[in-house]
Amino acid sequence: MLFAHDTEVALAAAAALVNTGGQDEDLPDVAALDEFVRTWGWTGERRRDQAELRAVRDLRPRLRRIWEVDQDEVVKILNALLRDARALPQLVKHDEWNYHLHATPPAAPLATRMAVEAAMALVDVVRGDELSRLQICEYPGCHNVVIDLSKNRSKRFCEDGCGNRAAVAAYRARKMQAAALDRGGRG
Ligand SMILES: [Zn+2]
Ligand SMILES: [Zn+2]
Repeated sequence: MLFAHDTEVALAAAAALVNTGGQDEDLPDVAALDEFVRTWGWTGERRRDQAELRAVRDLRPRLRRIWEVDQDEVVKILNALLRDARALPQLVKHDEWNYHLHATPPAAPLATRMAVEAAMALVDVVRGDELSRLQICEYPGCHNVVIDLSKNRSKRFCEDGCGNRAAVAAYRARKMQAAALDRGGRG
């Protein structure tokens, strides 16, 4: 494992959050946010109103910038996220999770908790000089962000099915090439 488990989960969650704001709006309503929160195991208080939804959506472009700028700029964004939320790291243990870091109280707004969790995880990435693991999906036309936590830095596609799409496209291209060779062979 590259980073602590909670860090890796937080990084994947941050990338997933950014990618809900791609070409399609994947967080159109509170129900979609509920689903996202359930999928990523967020605990703590929820307001389940439009203001909460808007705050979470507004966080996405701020996080996305982290994938787009150089290290010094990333550091500015992370420090601002932590400062704005008055983050105070504390080790906690809850539900099925062993000791991990929370830097916001459970009653802090959802978007604040999401921002700080992402920032705390990205602090580890910067400290480990691993920002090159933040990538943009290589599938043509896809602008989703990717966090490559693989040992050999082999991840090229986002979690939105682009890996499968690329494999299918490569398979079709091989088949067409083989068929063309076949036709050529028979003259
Ligand atoms: Zn926790
Ligand atoms: Zn993609």
